Amino acid sequence: MSARVSLGVDTEELASCVSCGLCLPHCPTFRVTGEEWASPRGRISAMREVQDHGAAVDDAFLASMDSCVQCRGCEPACPSGVPFGSMMEATQASLASRRRIDWRRWGFRVLGHRWLLNLVSRVLAVVQRLRLVPSKRLGLPKIPLVQDRLRASGDDVWLFTGCVMDAWQRSTHAGVKRVVESAGVGVALPGAGAGCCGALSLHAGLENHARALAIRTMGALEGSAPILVDSAGCGAALKEYGKHLGTSEAVAFSERVKDVHEWLAAQADRLPPVGKRHQEVTVAVHDPCHLRHVQRVHQPVADVLSRYATVVALDDDGLCCGAGGAYAAMQPDLAASIRKRKLEAIRRSGADIVASANPGCTIHLANAGVTVCHPLEIVDEAIHDDR
Ligand code: SF4
Ligand code: SF4
Repeated sequence: MSARVSLGVDTEELASCVSCGLCLPHCPTFRVTGEEWASPRGRISAMREVQDHGAAVDDAFLASMDSCVQCRGCEPACPSGVPFGSMMEATQASLASRRRIDWRRWGFRVLGHRWLLNLVSRVLAVVQRLRLVPSKRLGLPKIPLVQDRLRASGDDVWLFTGCVMDAWQRSTHAGVKRVVESAGVGVALPGAGAGCCGALSLHAGLENHARALAIRTMGALEGSAPILVDSAGCGAALKEYGKHLGTSEAVAFSERVKDVHEWLAAQADRLPPVGKRHQEVTVAVHDPCHLRHVQRVHQPVADVLSRYATVVALDDDGLCCGAGGAYAAMQPDLAASIRKRKLEAIRRSGADIVASANPGCTIHLANAGVTVCHPLEIVDEAIHDDR
């Protein structure tokens, strides 16, 4: 690509960066490269050069944009309130229509069809068992051959089940559902109409596809019951439907969305005690970026978990682990370098196990040999260990 383009970034947003550099230490790609082009300030400067001064969209520009994990760690660190996430989303949307070859365009379409994702997942599971696919190199977890069916237990709250997590980690949803039910609450499940929330498509710049998935998701979770989400990336996307779709219906929908830990922390007195045979473990909590920087509700994870386990904090200021949705597959070297810093922090913590409330982080860390699970799987085991 070499043609001059308008990126479609809001001019006021673009002008709001004062180039102070206070965000740089909070940016995982700057931390591992030390390069300005891999920093929030450098990326904003490059956007300005293209949009305001007609610079070409060349390979250096693409490398700067595509190396961004879209973790949004730079946003809470910025004293000027620069909305980096929406600027990067606009830039990626502009670039997406100009990319001649982009497997994400086809891959993310699969996520929008539950039957197709389930079919692809079963084929992958078989191929994995035959050792015909380099799972580790591709960042794939061990995909189950069969999945237990989840059954609704009431209509007090919805549990959003999503796409990849439902196809590959449904046992996590089952554990989360048992914990929510243990607070005396009936759980409704979305039907076949619900699936992908559109987060990955939005990050890849596939705006129309993301918008269509958002509208379909809203239609599958009707009524006024709270919508609980156990994946940080999906929760952040659902909470931003109001902003992205700009309709009163979408705003009302987003107000119903709660990260499941956020919701449970407010019902803590209804949660049961630990089971009789429970042995407490030491858990390090890895905060997914979309829980910490976007939803800004990472504290409830530790609040809920600390009732059932000894929780230790990581000393890396909540830096990204490098998973970033499809980032680990698109930018494997950078993703591995970023993860290395996280692994060092985990080692320093001395924890037995790591808890992370996002499937992408869980898979990325597990591929490096870390024992990692969803926080509510630990709570489920602690409550129900005498089943
Ligand atoms: S994004 Fe914010 S913190 Fe970073 S350089 Fe710009 S104004 Fe400073
Ligand atoms: S979103 Fe994350 S990787 Fe991208 S510039 Fe901001 S801090 Fe860096």
